[in-house]
Amino acid sequence: MSTPDRPFASYHLWSLVAPATGQERWHCQMRRGFIKARQHEPQVKALLAQATAPQRIGILAQKGVYEFHHHRHLLKQSDGVERVAQLLKLGNSSVQVQQRVLQILQKYHDAPLLLDKDIIQLTPGDEGFPKPIVVEQEDYCFRLYAAMDCVFIESDSTLHILDFKTGKSAFDKRQALVYLLAARYLYPGHEAVASFYNLEICKKSELISINNYELESLKFELANIAHKHQHDLQKYQEKTTNFSKIFPPNPGSHCRFCPFNSICEFADFKQTQSYPLPSLRAHS
Ligand code: SF4
Repeated sequence: MSTPDRPFASYHLWSLVAPATGQERWHCQMRRGFIKARQHEPQVKALLAQATAPQRIGILAQKGVYEFHHHRHLLKQSDGVERVAQLLKLGNSSVQVQQRVLQILQKYHDAPLLLDKDIIQLTPGDEGFPKPIVVEQEDYCFRLYAAMDCVFIESDSTLHILDFKTGKSAFDKRQALVYLLAARYLYPGHEAVASFYNLEICKKSELISINNYELESLKFELANIAHKHQHDLQKYQEKTTNFSKIFPPNPGSHCRFCPFNSICEFADFKQTQSYPLPSLRAHS
């Protein structure tokens, strides 16, 4: 994703450019710089490769749901949870990860949200970059990346895009909006809704939909994000010593949880063990 000559947008990029409501104080543009401009530097690459416990739990939970539906009989078997845990090679994870993932699997086994749903897409969650969608209008063009966890058809033939969550982070409506835009291209002619489901607390979000007017302004907003980011990457490539001007730091107590605090000269609290923010697990 480092080629600055081709603008792209994704929910992940949007969340790095602009904070979610209520997160403004902790938002740091320099994180975007590390993730999207310096990701090939060995030190940054090593930090990005370190999946933390919350990230591993999210990945394994998604994969667990995938395995349950890939081997549907396991949803009915009393040892289904153990069998899926074996498929996930859960024994290779830390005790903390094992415990939380087992709880998630048990809850899903007890109340499988997708049982009897007409699933048309369910991903194991570790398949890398999705294929880009080209969004082209008269005055802008960008590639959109949207990796959907699950898509199914409701009984009234509405397309339902579902995103699985773990942990305590709040649902970010922007992610659903990006999926709904992608659905217009991937499943044209379908009415679509999107929602989130937290696998740990078994909590569903409200259904989110978008009208044509909102869709156009969303495209415009994503085009702006794509072009702003492309512009920042170009400026950085022209003069890498301007890194902190192009991607300004916002140090504070939140640096404790930033995966780059060990290499960031602006971090105001350095520690050896990093605890990355959740958005490192993303596709573009
Ligand atoms: S350590 Fe702090 S200032 Fe540096 S990138 Fe992370 S959040 Fe920003």
